[in-house]
Amino acid sequence: MCSAGLYRQATLFKTPKGQGMSQLVDPFGRRISYIRMSVTDRCDFRCVYCMSEDMTFLPKKDLLTLEELERVASAFIELGVEKIRITGGEPLVRKGIMTLFHSLGGHIGPDGLKELTVTTNGSQLARYADELFAAGVRRVNVSLDTLDPEKFQAITRWGKFDKVMEGLAAAQSAGLAVKINAVALKDVNEHEFDAMIAWCGDSGYDLTLIETMPLGDIDGDRTDQYLPLSLVRGRLKKSWTLEDIPYRTGGPARYMKIAETGGKLGFITPMTHNFCESCNRVRLTCTGTLYMCLGQNDAADLKTPLRASESNEPLVEAIYEAISRKPKGHDFVIDREHNKPAVARHMSVTGG
Ligand code: SAM
Repeated sequence: MCSAGLYRQATLFKTPKGQGMSQLVDPFGRRISYIRMSVTDRCDFRCVYCMSEDMTFLPKKDLLTLEELERVASAFIELGVEKIRITGGEPLVRKGIMTLFHSLGGHIGPDGLKELTVTTNGSQLARYADELFAAGVRRVNVSLDTLDPEKFQAITRWGKFDKVMEGLAAAQSAGLAVKINAVALKDVNEHEFDAMIAWCGDSGYDLTLIETMPLGDIDGDRTDQYLPLSLVRGRLKKSWTLEDIPYRTGGPARYMKIAETGGKLGFITPMTHNFCESCNRVRLTCTGTLYMCLGQNDAADLKTPLRASESNEPLVEAIYEAISRKPKGHDFVIDREHNKPAVARHMSVTGG
């Protein structure tokens, strides 16, 4: 169908919301209530599955300003978005980032934003945990793939394990609920998950395991790293009592309760089992490009309409038009023959 046709179709899907604005519903009837906003493509780590060591980052002038990011976020909130996750790159290395958290926190309320959250590598949490809480953040996802400091060094290349541990402690004492996100990597951390579950249980953290996705060129071979979580779950069931639970955080993870620790264990399985049918998300890059699917190349430029007018009208129209093109799902494959990424851009570009 031509884009004009799709656009008409999407407008038909508009549903009434409070003060005349219509919610965002895609052509497959999925309401878009969640945006992940990348505030920078830069990171102070160089995780082996995420980036190559020698990355070229965007010139700072190409980035949306913090005020522009706030304007885009406000437009999405007007259109019914209830959850915003700030991500990157490493979001907490962007200069002045707390200003954005404070302004977005001002939208939290019964008729506005329900949740403002962040995904971080933890390196700056010791510095910012209290301020994040003050801005209205209540949960943080901290990416940590191993509890072994040497392995941590090998995976992150530039990370400092002790700094992350300090950050986790600071998050907890600030009152932030912590979820640890670990990418499951064959032969790297696959025998550590029992220890991580026990550690998370003792520390009061939930844990989510993620399948590695073919996003962007890296230095190594992805087929060497890929570990299907169906296999991991089978192994974990031998040591732990895992119960299916209906708990959801609005993201793609499916959770189980670990009876022995009382903690939750999430699985994000874009490779073995995608959850596209219930996808409620879109992703904004730090340059104002909106990706309607992490695993597809189609995108919409929001920077031009944002800068075209002081009114949000062109921006809102561009958002509706983009949602009318949201695809049904991704079709990731780990291409064993050619070792090519399914999508050329790195996770740090689209925002993890
Ligand atoms: N710097 C922040 C962090 O470390 O959480 C936010 C950005 S990072 C790109 C977000 C998440 O994406 C991290 O948990 C990281 O492990 C994950 N990630 C990066 N590349 C990935 C890939 N190819 N497959 C699966 N997860 C990936």
